[in-house]
Amino acid sequence: MKPAPFHYEAPEELRQALSLLVEHRDAAAILAGGQSLVPLLNLRMARPDVVIDINRLTGLDDVETTADGVRVGALVRAERLVHDRAIAAVHPLLAKAVASIGHPQIRNRTTIGGNLAHADPASELPAVLAATDGWITLADYNGSRRMGWRDFFIGPYMTARRAEEMVVAVDFPHPEGMDFMFIETSRRPGDYALAGVCAGLRVVDGIVAEARIALFGVGSTVVRATEAEQEIRGRAVDEAALSELRRGVADMLTPADDLHAPAAYRRHLAGHLAGQAIGSLWQAQRA
Ligand SMILES: Cc1cc2nc3c(=O)[nH]c(=O)nc-3n(C[C@H](O)[C@H](O)[C@H](O)COP(=O)(O)OP(=O)(O)OC[C@H]3O[C@@H](n4cnc5c(N)ncnc54)[C@H](O)[C@@H]3O)c2cc1C
Repeated sequence: MKPAPFHYEAPEELRQALSLLVEHRDAAAILAGGQSLVPLLNLRMARPDVVIDINRLTGLDDVETTADGVRVGALVRAERLVHDRAIAAVHPLLAKAVASIGHPQIRNRTTIGGNLAHADPASELPAVLAATDGWITLADYNGSRRMGWRDFFIGPYMTARRAEEMVVAVDFPHPEGMDFMFIETSRRPGDYALAGVCAGLRVVDGIVAEARIALFGVGSTVVRATEAEQEIRGRAVDEAALSELRRGVADMLTPADDLHAPAAYRRHLAGHLAGQAIGSLWQAQRA
């Protein structure tokens, strides 16, 4: 199938793009890497009047690394995060998680802003944002605002972005003393995950000072296992704690029953992966 007819715009300035969004609002679609939008256009599941191609905009493909984390411009390609040594030095989690998005050909086009704006509940990057308590910067013609991941993802393929706004940057903080781990299970390398986890752990004086467990592929959006995180806080991570954590994570989830896996399997898998991640982080911090 071919896309329904649309008007094509390729602005070279951000303000020009934002002005087009004000003009066309819901009738416009932003084209970034095109890895999700183009199939949707071809299948006519998306029928915008105007496609605003943002690939010529300048200033949205910078990466800034500080001791506190990484700020990534919306047009940075996923594959860059896999190989950039400066990013890996500050936030190795990013390279690990992003390397699981599709294949190199797909990652060469996929943008960080487009991936998050697409808000696929099985996507890796929203879980990275959730585990790092990161935020998204949205710009419109009159200014910009910062939005935490909890407010941004509101449902499957749905975000709190207003029609006249564009994602311009994403911040992935790296809290001091916290180590992160990313694990997913998919049928084949490059496939979307059946379930995945992005976890963080900070150990102080032999007990857990803070744990973070973000799960993807098991709900309508990325989800943080806040109860399980609280339960393990102030404890040593022994087999009893891990067993409770696996059960707690599995019990809180209501994943889809679909052709890829039954809900019960996804729940069990998510609990298992969360236990594996927290157990490994504990061992690493104690070593
Ligand atoms: C074979 C295949 C395998 C894949 N596997 C995975 C996978 O394992 N994990 C995964 O996460 N993804 C996967 N993807 C999806 C891919 O990573 C998507 O491209 C990505 O999610 C969207 O990024 P994009 O830059 O291509 O955005 P586009 O396709 O250009 O846009 C996607 C959506 O976001 C909007 N948008 C884009 N940029 C912005 C912006 N700056 N501000 C506001 N809205 C914006 C668009 O209007 C559109 O609605 C796969 C894709 C393919 C084709």
